[in-house]
Amino acid sequence: MNIQAPLPLDQTTRPLAGRVSLVSGSTSGIGLGIARALAAAGSAVVLNGFGKPEDIAETQARIGSEFGVRVRYSGADMSKPTPIAEMIAMALDAFGRLDILVNNAGIQHVAPLEQFPVEKWDAVLAINLSSAFHTTRLALPAMRKNNFGRIINIASAHGLVASPFKAAYVAAKHGMIGLTKVTALEAAEANITCNAICPGYVYTPLVEAQIEGQAKAHGIPREQVIRDVLLSQQPNKRFATVEELGALSAFLASDAAASITGAALPVDGGWTAH
Ligand code: NAD
Repeated sequence: MNIQAPLPLDQTTRPLAGRVSLVSGSTSGIGLGIARALAAAGSAVVLNGFGKPEDIAETQARIGSEFGVRVRYSGADMSKPTPIAEMIAMALDAFGRLDILVNNAGIQHVAPLEQFPVEKWDAVLAINLSSAFHTTRLALPAMRKNNFGRIINIASAHGLVASPFKAAYVAAKHGMIGLTKVTALEAAEANITCNAICPGYVYTPLVEAQIEGQAKAHGIPREQVIRDVLLSQQPNKRFATVEELGALSAFLASDAAASITGAALPVDGGWTAH
């Protein structure tokens, strides 16, 4: 009989102990949920995103004390290549390695194509897509050096299917899935995986802004916006949670997910099964 030795405690309770993660757009919503889940699994974390300095300092301190990991913060504007390069350099300087990169920062703008403001198109493409190109190209050398890496791109159900009035967002998210596949192919032999997570609607400040906007535009109560507008395509009629996305990210970052790469994983309550 082959009796396997039990895993050391840290590998079962803190599977990401010793790892270093960077999560763009992690001062709020999904990014914050993912940063918390990676920290809970034992990873040191670099936070990024906008917000009030005192709120960010509190988030940084809370994650550090709650999970006993080191936490740094970069205020890099993800629409700009130079601050992105400075953020990656800071992470490598602080921790000497970068194992897990989560490209999550994103914005939305809703308008018909003919009236879509050109500067909004440029901003959505820069923040939701080009930023992931920059972080990935800059993080790969450090990952290759350690023969380990996990890149997780937060795309969207809108990376798989379209909705009207979201030209820039849908184009950027489809592009994100293409970038995911290319990264997966180029890095596969170095034990670096790259996957896209494609959430349906998740309740976050980004979605709260859409609920308010649609309620005003259609003159209907917010409950009706949630059920009949936002969740009309989501068969399970509930928002996904940031905790669910955190748990999936922690799994994709773990050794157990070593053979999952180049995938676009829907977390959408069945939306894209239509
Ligand atoms: P959110 O607005 O709650 O958080 C966005 C984060 O990105 C914040 O931390 C914000 O400060 C940061 N950010 C925005 N612009 C930035 C910039 N220029 N530089 C640096 N940071 C910047 O949004 P969320 O709902 O948590 O969305 C996170 C990601 O998930 C986005 O890519 C979004 O497209 C994607 N997504 C969200 C949903 C949803 O239903 N909420 C669904 C599918 C995909």
